[in-house]
Amino acid sequence: MPKRILITDYVWPNVDPEKRILNQINADVIVAPDPSEKTLINLSKDVDGILTCFAKVTENVIEAAKNCVVIGRYGVGTDNISVETATNLGVIVTYVPDYCTEEVSDHTIGLILSWNRKITFHNKDTKEFGWGNAGLGMRIMRLSEKTLGVIGFGRIGRSVARKAKAFGMNVAVYSPSLQDDQAKENGVNKVSLETLLKTSHFVSLHTPLNEKTQGMIGEKEISLMRSDAVLINCARGGLIHEESLFNALTKNYIAGAALDVMEDLQPAIDNKIIQMENTLITPHTAFFSQESVLELQEKAATSVVQVLQRKMPENVYNKSVLPHARMKI
Ligand code: NAD
Repeated sequence: MPKRILITDYVWPNVDPEKRILNQINADVIVAPDPSEKTLINLSKDVDGILTCFAKVTENVIEAAKNCVVIGRYGVGTDNISVETATNLGVIVTYVPDYCTEEVSDHTIGLILSWNRKITFHNKDTKEFGWGNAGLGMRIMRLSEKTLGVIGFGRIGRSVARKAKAFGMNVAVYSPSLQDDQAKENGVNKVSLETLLKTSHFVSLHTPLNEKTQGMIGEKEISLMRSDAVLINCARGGLIHEESLFNALTKNYIAGAALDVMEDLQPAIDNKIIQMENTLITPHTAFFSQESVLELQEKAATSVVQVLQRKMPENVYNKSVLPHARMKI
């Protein structure tokens, strides 16, 4: 009997790349017409695997999916999946942690350049008021020799540091697991969080969001920053205590903020931080390129195929499931 794979939801034009890969095991692909729990419970009853983007794969869905051996998450975070239930029931959860490192680091550098060179401002101003209207009173720094503070030195933080160094920036890093020799190898200065905040012209966040990092940049941390510094967040909105940021931006304690993510996953257009003059906002697009999304689709589908072929996929999120997994690999 052919394997059956349920795709709960997706945000790209089509699922042809997944179908091509799942075709290697002649799997039938079922695409959910909507991501409600009721629909997913009905559709998961006889599937062997589930691929999911943002839909909630709840305890009830996983309990209904009696034959399911693998849930593949399109992306880095797995917070839309009841991983505990999956683990208890022997279902392997896979994820894709590395499909957009180049995109997010490009985006971070893009925000630094756009902020500093006032590119979006001048573009809008020129179209509205014409050529030759721009005053040169605004603060534009020579980036070379300025300091970029990178908080979190994983895949994306390292890539941002490498790119910033090409612009001649000094890179200061705070990341608990960073060793002295790694800092030396990467040509960055390992510093305390306090030093980083006090000395950086740009502070960029690249840590995961968890109980320890939630609100890690609050009133106290912002008060340590230079008054001409810019806070950049292409990681997760919850890392910043937004009320403290709003207060600091209102009182010009810091120069501005460039944000791709906010506490609210779908902030309203009249969100007070979005509408401030000293913020530069993109709507959670840092991960996106045609290449990154194709890589995401292919890697997520490949992991599901590998589990069904009893092969170890590259990224298992709930490794503790392996000894009692429904599908031994
Ligand atoms: P990673 O796991 O490779 O690196 C995270 C780094 O943060 C690690 O070096 C870790 O030691 C460090 N860290 C953990 N806790 C810390 C703390 N309290 N203080 C300082 N450093 C700490 O992750 P990554 O691939 O570099 O991704 C970073 C984050 O970017 C992800 O967690 C994700 O939330 C976010 N992200 C955003 C987008 C987007 O589109 N905006 C896309 C992908 C990833």
